[in-house]
Amino acid sequence: MHRTLTDTYGPKPLVARRDPMHELISTILSQRTNWRDEDAAYQELVALGGEPLSWDRIAELPVEQVAHAIRRSNYPESKAPRIQATLKAICAERGSYDLSFLATLPPQEGLKWLTNLPGVGVKTASLVLLFNFSLPLFPVDTHVHRITSRVGAIPAMGEAAAHKALLRLLPPDPPLLYELHVNLLSHGQQVCTFSRPRCGKCVLRERCDAYARYGDRVPSFAETGVGKGKAKGKAAAA
Ligand code: SF4
Repeated sequence: MHRTLTDTYGPKPLVARRDPMHELISTILSQRTNWRDEDAAYQELVALGGEPLSWDRIAELPVEQVAHAIRRSNYPESKAPRIQATLKAICAERGSYDLSFLATLPPQEGLKWLTNLPGVGVKTASLVLLFNFSLPLFPVDTHVHRITSRVGAIPAMGEAAAHKALLRLLPPDPPLLYELHVNLLSHGQQVCTFSRPRCGKCVLRERCDAYARYGDRVPSFAETGVGKGKAKGKAAAA
């Protein structure tokens, strides 16, 4: 799958696209939000922090003001207190917002540290550790979960459980994990969509369990019932 998707969507070198705090907060904002609205919400949020950016200031503002700033992101009322709680916890633990120490931790310890933060689940933590620190973790977002379930790489399970299951199947090779994650995202957006996947144009068709079973009539992902066992709480949300 990795080779086929890279041939189709191109190589994706692993280069951090933004600093770790930006990645962390933007990933929280990105949940159920498109990238344009995520970026707009992030820019309005950091504008509250002044110049130079003070995360302390954002952490102490009235929560309604933070929710208003991130209103382009979905569920701003629940994300605003989570973001503020995350900021306060980082500062309380580390005395600053410098996350570079995560590069020196074993991957599972970094994962544990990040997921202990109040607003951070396994997907967000895995993404920050892979994208920013090149640690061998595999973030499972809705696209990765849907495609790997449909092709039959993993049995029916929720997104949180899929992190462990897929990591067991994949080599501990950060550039490969990054490239596969990003290309699965492209494939999920363009071909293996939530409802009415375009199986006739799919390069994974020959090895896809869902296609073998349903042919060109693969049902909407909601109809398959996969993910009903999704973890509750922040792990499911983040
Ligand atoms: S064949 Fe269809 S269901 Fe299978 S991965 Fe491709 S688009 Fe998705």
